[in-house]
Amino acid sequence: MLASDAATASFTSRMTKCCCSMYLGAPGVQRPGDHYNGIIRPYTIVSSSLELRKVAEADFPSRFGHFRILGFEGITDGEAEDAVVLKLGDITTPPPVLVRVHSQCLTGDVLHSLRCDCRAQLELALESIAMEGRGLLIYEQQEGRGIGLLNKLRAYELQDHGADTVEANEQLGFEADLRAYVMPAAILNFLGVRRVRLMSNNPGKIQALENAGVQVTERIPCLVDPIGSTEKYLLTKRKKMGHLLDPV
Ligand SMILES: [Zn+2]
Repeated sequence: MLASDAATASFTSRMTKCCCSMYLGAPGVQRPGDHYNGIIRPYTIVSSSLELRKVAEADFPSRFGHFRILGFEGITDGEAEDAVVLKLGDITTPPPVLVRVHSQCLTGDVLHSLRCDCRAQLELALESIAMEGRGLLIYEQQEGRGIGLLNKLRAYELQDHGADTVEANEQLGFEADLRAYVMPAAILNFLGVRRVRLMSNNPGKIQALENAGVQVTERIPCLVDPIGSTEKYLLTKRKKMGHLLDPV
């Protein structure tokens, strides 16, 4: 049996109705992946609000460890979102696997920005997963807590004139945080992962995954030391967004 077939079988047997009104895995709506002309047909999971499709899986050696990389596409009300998953080791057997849901930060992750702690958190998560020998990194395209790259740069401009990260988003007409974590929850369900140890400082993320039917058995802090350029940003996240940033 192909690894991809196994993933589908596991998903089929574990699907439940999520509390976030997604109905995942309803009988008859899945189209199991199969091969034709040497190409793996993507799986499609249709729900009332989200259609999740695994489009690719490949070998992924990295400087943190030797992962598998998986590509997912989610479509909600005609809007498409992509997500990438790095998977290491056996993720479905006990104890619950270590999971990091990381929102894309091009400026931090790629351009090494020190306005935020995103890249440091990403590296800490990958190091932690590698150290345990198993785990998942779900990388969501939710730049700027969901407002998009260019709006994030507009928010930076406002911050340069005195706004904090929450005020800047609000001045642009957005909520402080637009992320709902529906797609990460659907991906975990797809992979047959029902219980996780979540690496996060964000109580809202934990609640969202729990609401979507993923049991968070433990929160693992994802703390990096503040530096001069991230101090105000992290203070705002702690005071206004309830992030748990004190050392434990
Ligand atoms: Zn960032």
